[in-house]
Amino acid sequence: MSTAMSISHKSKKKARQEGPAAAMRDVSRYLMGTYRRPPIVFVRGEGCYLYDHRGKKYLDFLGGLAVNALGYSHPRLVKVMRREAGRAVHFSNLFHHSFQGPLARKLVDWSGLDRVFFTNSGTEAIEGALKLARLVAHQRGVTGKTRILAMENSFHGRTFGALSVTHPAKYREPFAPLVPGVEFVRFNDTSDLEAKFDDSVCAIVVEAIQGEGGIFPMSGAFWTRARELATHYGAALIADEIQCGLGRTGRAFAYQRHVGLPDIAVVAKPLAGGLPLGAILAQGSFAEAFSPGLHGSTFGGGPFTCAVALEFLETIEDEELLDNIRQRGAQLRAGLSRMGAEFDFIRELRGEGLMFGLELSVEGKTYVANALKQGLIINCTHDRVIRLLPPYIVTERQVADFLARLRTVFARTKRPAGLASAPTDADSPRALIAAR
Ligand code: PLP
Repeated sequence: MSTAMSISHKSKKKARQEGPAAAMRDVSRYLMGTYRRPPIVFVRGEGCYLYDHRGKKYLDFLGGLAVNALGYSHPRLVKVMRREAGRAVHFSNLFHHSFQGPLARKLVDWSGLDRVFFTNSGTEAIEGALKLARLVAHQRGVTGKTRILAMENSFHGRTFGALSVTHPAKYREPFAPLVPGVEFVRFNDTSDLEAKFDDSVCAIVVEAIQGEGGIFPMSGAFWTRARELATHYGAALIADEIQCGLGRTGRAFAYQRHVGLPDIAVVAKPLAGGLPLGAILAQGSFAEAFSPGLHGSTFGGGPFTCAVALEFLETIEDEELLDNIRQRGAQLRAGLSRMGAEFDFIRELRGEGLMFGLELSVEGKTYVANALKQGLIINCTHDRVIRLLPPYIVTERQVADFLARLRTVFARTKRPAGLASAPTDADSPRALIAAR
């Protein structure tokens, strides 16, 4: 055995013996510093609850950032994972397997679009969608049809193409130069959209509800105009449904609250119940444009992930979870609205289904930290927006319990200072919505 191998065996044994403290030490010593984490090691989950290394129980209203839509260890997903792990987790996309076709058919049924390509993640799906839009423009033989419109306050992922259509400068600028040809449109501002749209645009990328941006729903008027202009100029309307899609809003896809389909939709997060799987869905010429060799993925759409994703979608159908999402969403909205009336630092409640943002006038991170101490998992995005993305299986009692405990957190937390550089109303998409 080589020295490196024997050292790695020794350190593995040592880490196991020392437990969570050593695991956290190793993280700070050996991992790149991309995440700021509290000193907790989660060891397992069941339903809507997580358990840490001390056995403490947490009610999870973040759901792995919109991934754990069926909670943890859902019996149907566990059963399929066990079965497929014993068969094959990977073959390669050079061969057929039993699950890709049926999963694609189910996604087509849910979305109203025509065809599917599988990826490993959200950002990879966005990359493929942008490539598809450029490809169709090239195939139509229109020269210079390469511009891409994206929304201010958007988030689409971390790879170069996805980063190029992500608006906040803090994500983009450290990695410049990015993909050229992208222009940002003011969210929900149809005049700005009209001014920037012309024949040189090959794609417009939107989120029906902006997620990372702070839970901002797109207006029906803006969606309709984007659809009209995309059709008029032969550009792809790309709906990023990675956070808001696949049931999250109480509809199969969040764009279904509007009239007219996108040309391309991308999904990922909850699709395979926590396993990495994304998909590009497309209609019409966008569904037919890829030919063998033009695009691909080694891992995307393997038998293991596809079998679990099929089970995920069938579980939503069989257990009528879209109804539960709408009912629990209404319960959550009512309770959060009551809190809005009680606490003057709550400025606004936005969202639908099980996707809510509670905008505060002060920093949210102290509330998030205190909630964690009380056994509640929530998140703060854009410094001041408390974001809730609970699992679709959440029960009436769990929502009531969550609301009571969040109220206690709000009541007992010493009010944090306002933000040093609080976004002004003029910068906020909310101001635009209110102005209309
Ligand atoms: N698009 C949206 C709307 C997202 O919320 C995210 C992730 O948060 C992404 C794209 C990127 O997805 P992934 O992290 O799987 O690459």
